[in-house]
Amino acid sequence: MEGEKSMKSRTGMITVLSGFSGAGKGTIMKHLLNAYPDMYHLSISATTRAMRLGEEEGREYFFKTPEEFEKMVKNGEFLEHATFNGNSYGTPKSYVQQLVDEGKDVILEIEVQGALQVKKQFPDSLLLFVTPPSASVLQERLVGRGTEDDEAIRQRLAISAKESHLMPQYDYLIINDVLDDAVAEVHHIIQSEHYAIQRNNDTILDMQTQLAQFASAGEKKGDAQ
Ligand code: 5GP
Repeated sequence: MEGEKSMKSRTGMITVLSGFSGAGKGTIMKHLLNAYPDMYHLSISATTRAMRLGEEEGREYFFKTPEEFEKMVKNGEFLEHATFNGNSYGTPKSYVQQLVDEGKDVILEIEVQGALQVKKQFPDSLLLFVTPPSASVLQERLVGRGTEDDEAIRQRLAISAKESHLMPQYDYLIINDVLDDAVAEVHHIIQSEHYAIQRNNDTILDMQTQLAQFASAGEKKGDAQ
């Protein structure tokens, strides 16, 4: 029940979703956005990597030349940026800031270095890490895709090995075994976080102020009698 006098005003939250290449974070995101289109907003990154078959400018990424990307860096247009597998990736600042100011939940699907930069700038952001149930399942998934040769797969696993050392800096671990379960877990974690005490300081302060006013009004009434 949200009464007229409710003090509840939801603040927007930044959630960062990272995970090993092949962990299925893109698929989780797609399902999450399909299931809850009004609840979550996905930040679209800029990248210097080549557009893949089936991708569209402005849908998966804003595709940039290295010069364009560098200019954006210089102009301070990124919330964070990082190099992954030889390409540059960055989160445009203005869109994320606008969503947060509007009280909306925004999700950044980015790699680990960028995720930690976001946490530094926004300590309230929520960091989720997606992994398959085991390293061998990860390897099987990469091989199963059939899109890369052995050397490329070895390279991806080497990146994952490095990334795994940063997992302890995340807030929650999502084990993507059954896709629908992983999607539900991400949704529930984000929703639960909104109820965390430290995210509701304004509401608590309002409650304290109002109660103090009621209490002192009651005291005065008592004095007058
Ligand atoms: P892909 O080229 O496969 O789309 O993405 C490669 C990696 O870059 C993935 O781990 C993806 O999450 C990450 N990534 C995508 N956009 C950004 C971004 O804006 N910043 C950072 N730091 N990483 C990103």
